[in-house]
Amino acid sequence: MTTAPHPWRDAFLAVVALFLPVSCLGCGARDRPLCDSCRADLAERPGRVRLVGGVRLDAAFEYEGLVRTLVLELKLRGRVDVAAPLGRPTGALVRRALADAPPGTLVLRVPPSPRGRRRRGFDTVVLLLARGGVRRTGRLRRQRAAGPPGVGLRGARPRGAGQKERTALERVDATVGTLRAVGVAGRDVVLVDDVVTTGVTMAEAVRAVRAAGGRVVRCVATASVES
Ligand SMILES: [Zn+2]
Repeated sequence: MTTAPHPWRDAFLAVVALFLPVSCLGCGARDRPLCDSCRADLAERPGRVRLVGGVRLDAAFEYEGLVRTLVLELKLRGRVDVAAPLGRPTGALVRRALADAPPGTLVLRVPPSPRGRRRRGFDTVVLLLARGGVRRTGRLRRQRAAGPPGVGLRGARPRGAGQKERTALERVDATVGTLRAVGVAGRDVVLVDDVVTTGVTMAEAVRAVRAAGGRVVRCVATASVES
């Protein structure tokens, strides 16, 4: 992928940099949050394909190095300026999944934990998909205890101890039944999340859609660990 010239953007950033020096999150060069060279490096990275809950998962990136840094800056420090280089290939994967799927296929995102959503003030997956040009997510809802009926995934991620402190089996146990899909009976579904590590949450999303009579045709993530 080549980077199209953006003379006005470059000029604008150059002026901004005079007053607000920023450095590239990838290489530290005093430039912008992600320099052209690191951007190009990112664009050339191969995606990942794995199985989650018996369904093919396409991830735009492996969750390591620069990608991990960018995701954490976005999720933990609210650096929305790095969403575009992560979101564009994510959106492309969703479009490809929809092109392979029957017409009328729904795109459902895995909801963030209520705590994460509160802390950030935005939903990472919605932002990534928007940057990737996927906006057909209006009917998707974060789960609420007593929300209105509609199409979407509902449910909270497990409370209490963080996932890292649990054993793999405890994580699976604690996750099953935490998500609920509404309005998907007889429908084909593409599921989207930002990061897939153990795959427990995505597998729960697949289970929830199936339990509600839907069919998951593809899972898409921005980044996945190598499984
Ligand atoms: Zn750089």
